[in-house]
Amino acid sequence: MRSVEEHQRVVAGLITRRPAVTMPIAETLGLVLADDVVAPLSLPGFDNSAMDGYAVVAEDISGATPEQPVLLPVAEDIPAGRTDQLTLKPGTAHRIMTGAPLPSVATAVIPVEATNAATDTVEIRASAKPGQHIRRAGEDVTAGTTVLRAGQVVTPAALGLAAALGLGELSVIPRQRVLVMSTGSELVAPGTPLQPGQIYESNAVMLAAALRDAGAEVVATPTAGDDVAVFRDALDRHRGDADLIITTGGVSAGAYEVVKDALGEGQVEFVKVAMQPGMPQGSGVVDGTPIITLPGNPVSALVSFEVFLRAPLRSAMGLPHPERPRRTAVLTEDLTSPRGKRQYRRGVFDPDAGTVTSYGPPASHHLRWLASANCLLEIDEDVVELAGGSHVQIWDLA
Ligand code: AMP
Ligand code: MG
Repeated sequence: MRSVEEHQRVVAGLITRRPAVTMPIAETLGLVLADDVVAPLSLPGFDNSAMDGYAVVAEDISGATPEQPVLLPVAEDIPAGRTDQLTLKPGTAHRIMTGAPLPSVATAVIPVEATNAATDTVEIRASAKPGQHIRRAGEDVTAGTTVLRAGQVVTPAALGLAAALGLGELSVIPRQRVLVMSTGSELVAPGTPLQPGQIYESNAVMLAAALRDAGAEVVATPTAGDDVAVFRDALDRHRGDADLIITTGGVSAGAYEVVKDALGEGQVEFVKVAMQPGMPQGSGVVDGTPIITLPGNPVSALVSFEVFLRAPLRSAMGLPHPERPRRTAVLTEDLTSPRGKRQYRRGVFDPDAGTVTSYGPPASHHLRWLASANCLLEIDEDVVELAGGSHVQIWDLA
């Protein structure tokens, strides 16, 4: 049997980074910048007012108080967006709004609250230091400065900065495009009636969500039954759009193992990995596209995704901290684990107490428990019994 680490290496070796692409900025949230971003202009782009009020020469209003205001004629009105460059004549004021360009010669802005808000002759009731309430050109960003670095994740604030700098596109590491194929003649799409012996297909929506949560893009989620020709056909139809194919089911030791039957001839290596759940695994390349064949049981499929696929996919997208955070927690109960297999149990981690409780039976069809778990307990191959109170490694899924 192959060790978990060995299969992790094999899977990681099949997943490769795509070349950088330039995309409209609105599509880049959560992606990683492929290049540094250098500011093409300064921010603010021009001296402007930080307040709604009056632009003045500071000396003109020295000594102004509510009791002894200074009166100045209002020569201009400057709303935000006015594009002509004005000059203030000393001894006058310009009414000005927040973000509007400061007239030259003006050295301060008096907030409207310190005036009578008049539009003909304004009563100024406070003095000002030169520079008061003025935002200077370039005080946020100087043109030519590197404002974002290659390797940084695009956040809402990074998008805001890019837009403020007038950038319509960013160069990013694109998402991994993944085709998710479910197999099994017993599977029926949720929302349609069930015949006896049929079950609802649940791996596709689950894995597609896990992929998107990891930052990947899902190309398609066909269900192929257990028919080799149908499986091959669905594979061929969607393969060209995918960087990676993930299949579920059809890789065990029974008959009608469609994935094994369709992909046997040297393209995919089917192996047993020393783990529970998730023992039957496969990996390979189909006509140039890497493929990972996961077992069909929903818990096995999702645990396998966590153990083998999530981190390399995130790494290939350049994302920082590709791995789930690992912690040590105190076990609240006694547990057993099969000798020679790495066991991944579903668990509930209490971050306040630092404890973890195994949640649900270890068998791989108990999806209900996984749905309310917040961690995986990782129990080593050589451990067969764990006493309550002992320390155990967990993967934080929260
Ligand atoms: P297999 O590996 O194909 O033998 O499937 C193992 C178990 O998982 C069987 O009980 C299947 O019915 C179940 N299973 C396989 N694929 C899916 C799926 N896409 N959705 C729900 N259950 C599945
Ligand atoms: Mg099957």
